[in-house]
Amino acid sequence: MHDRLKVLIGIVGLLALVATSVAAQPPARPLTQEEMFRRNVGTSEEQVTPFPPHRIVGNLYYVGTYSLSAFLVATPEGHILINTNWERAVDGLKTSVEALGFAFDDIEVILGSHAHADHMEGDALVAQMTGARVLAMAADVPALERMRPGDKPHPIDRVLHDGSTVTLGGTTLTARLTPGHTKGCTTWTMRIEEDGELHDVAIIGSMGSNPSFQFVNNPDNPRIADEFKQGFRVLRSLSPDVPLGSHPAMYGMAEKYARIGDGPNPFIDPDGYRAELGAVETLFRAVLERQEAEAAAAGR
Ligand SMILES: [Zn+2]
Repeated sequence: MHDRLKVLIGIVGLLALVATSVAAQPPARPLTQEEMFRRNVGTSEEQVTPFPPHRIVGNLYYVGTYSLSAFLVATPEGHILINTNWERAVDGLKTSVEALGFAFDDIEVILGSHAHADHMEGDALVAQMTGARVLAMAADVPALERMRPGDKPHPIDRVLHDGSTVTLGGTTLTARLTPGHTKGCTTWTMRIEEDGELHDVAIIGSMGSNPSFQFVNNPDNPRIADEFKQGFRVLRSLSPDVPLGSHPAMYGMAEKYARIGDGPNPFIDPDGYRAELGAVETLFRAVLERQEAEAAAAGR
């Protein structure tokens, strides 16, 4: 009895210790601008090193690097590529597409997340190599026209608007204008079938508040804060069960990849979408508030 009591006291003590250490965990602190930026873009090596290519859901595949996403929608009539990334990483991109058993040459359409070179610099080269058409959101066209690696003009074969659709071989993608990060930042949505079930996929274009962004009194884009708010409104109206993003860290790709084949499809994660949206919106609101207070204090 005495011993039993000792064991019981021991267990109670242990439980109390566990409870204390759990309670002692600091509440999850929102990421700073710098931390969010680093989380997304990774190192320069991670930006160009191919991540093992893999199937995400149905006919949608990952063909990007450790920190820059590229997605392939494979259809019987050719393929749609979303993001060509840095031009110097195009060889790796081609290797990833071929490793999945697809021909690079069968890429018919090139789409993009937003007009920043890390996501779309390779457009001209991939178009040259495959003969694919490049489709771009109207508001990003001026920025894309300034993107000329090796002085090659940026190809633009069709201009898109919010709600424009792109159909190939039975799969339809819808372009949603989610501006802020760039003027034509695009979130791609599509419905993909797997095992007789339909899944709503959203590839977040980016709602990242980069450390260089000036939300208040920005002479280059006085509307930038309103554009971000518009972007968040659109994203809040979506409820994908397969959330993806222009950077794999936006949807915890590496961690989900590790769980492939281990139970249900790990990329089905509706809660992950809400969590990511909450994190980037919390950060945006905090930065905006700080910059507004600074501007007010400076009497501008
Ligand atoms: Zn960007």
